[in-house]
Amino acid sequence: MKSNTNLSFLHLLQLLFYIITIVSGFHLPCFHLPPSKATRRQTLPTCQTSLTSPIPRTTLASTELSTSEHILFDLPVSNNGARCRIILYKKGIRKDQVEILSPAEVGGLKSSDYLNLNPAGLMPSLTIQKADNPYGINAIAESDTIARYLISEYSDAPSFLPDHPKSNQIARWHDMYLTPIQGCLYKPSSRLPFGNYADRKSAIAAYRKNLEVIEGFVGDLTGLYLCGDDISLADATLFPSLVFATFMLPKFDHAQPALPLTLTQYYNNLMAKDEVFSKVHDEIMSVLVDSWDAKNRWDDIWLAGQRDTAPGTIFDKILSGEIPASVVKEDDHILAFKDINPMAPAHIVIIPKDRSGLTNLRKASAEHIDILGRLLVTAGEIAKDAELGFGDGARIVINDGNDGGQEVMHLHVHVLGGKKLDNKLG
Ligand code: AMP
Repeated sequence: MKSNTNLSFLHLLQLLFYIITIVSGFHLPCFHLPPSKATRRQTLPTCQTSLTSPIPRTTLASTELSTSEHILFDLPVSNNGARCRIILYKKGIRKDQVEILSPAEVGGLKSSDYLNLNPAGLMPSLTIQKADNPYGINAIAESDTIARYLISEYSDAPSFLPDHPKSNQIARWHDMYLTPIQGCLYKPSSRLPFGNYADRKSAIAAYRKNLEVIEGFVGDLTGLYLCGDDISLADATLFPSLVFATFMLPKFDHAQPALPLTLTQYYNNLMAKDEVFSKVHDEIMSVLVDSWDAKNRWDDIWLAGQRDTAPGTIFDKILSGEIPASVVKEDDHILAFKDINPMAPAHIVIIPKDRSGLTNLRKASAEHIDILGRLLVTAGEIAKDAELGFGDGARIVINDGNDGGQEVMHLHVHVLGGKKLDNKLG
């Protein structure tokens, strides 16, 4: 009881202190009372949903977790966090300066405590809890922000060339175009879309294309690192993604090399000659192999574990032009043509150009949401096309499997009309 009373008195003092600070407008040095274990939970903020939280800040009593100047919340598998770890390792930043802890220490990525640090619920996040903090912010999120903070805060060599335009070009391109779609290499189908890409196949193609773009930015290697003999922020940014790409892209397509030529050379050189990079590689790989591979994470992932192995059909021959068809509509995704054996005055068949396992509708998964939408939108457009013979309405049919009367095992939508059809469905 006595200690609680003391604590309340101290908290009153703290409140008074803050009021004086606000009213006077002076910037007084911040202090935090370490709350007792019993009161800690009550001082934590109530749950904020992700992305509705304001600017990252913490009321977390993180000094209870570590007395270090900063805590980096991160895990070895996090390839964005790995860029910060490369900076820590290269600069020899000590544990009393930055301690790495798992987000599990504050209840996990989706806990209200963690969301206050990083409203996106992603790794990494950094708390600033050193005594002389002039920044007016005590938590920062996002790896580039944290990496740049560490570079300027701990100015010992190497500098990481934070103003080098080539480094910035590569790092920024990485963050703008590779990072948003990296999930296509490991996230389950339920997590679609990947960045701007509605399906895994197009996201993987875009991922490869952006690696080629970065290859172009790199040009000829003139040293061990991307900008020559000095390590830059681009090396810390790009290398962890190359670890992911080298391990995962072959799961989707063995035939193509994982990385373009210069990036392959760069990656192999770093692995052979730089201990910090091979250490970070091992950190990431330990999780990928011991956990992801061991738990068969790829089995359910389209194009990695799941592929279209069913025999081709007559529609492939129409698509390749081997068999002619009376095409009425076509774009990158669908082909629509007149049915060779029409069951109504107007009868159009619409197919996805890429079957992607859709031998029939019962094979549909989240991976197919985009193409299914496209098929139905096209069906609606065709059904109102008077030039194709449609009048006031149409019947849109998908025959599914043997019992449904399906003959061609490549998903297709029938659009029938040109007269009033009877209302029998069976
Ligand atoms: P389903 O019975 O639902 O599998 O429908 C397959 C449809 O494809 C049938 O209506 C066929 O008449 C049509 N079909 C098959 N071969 C061709 C072809 N070469 N050109 C146009 N339509 C075709």
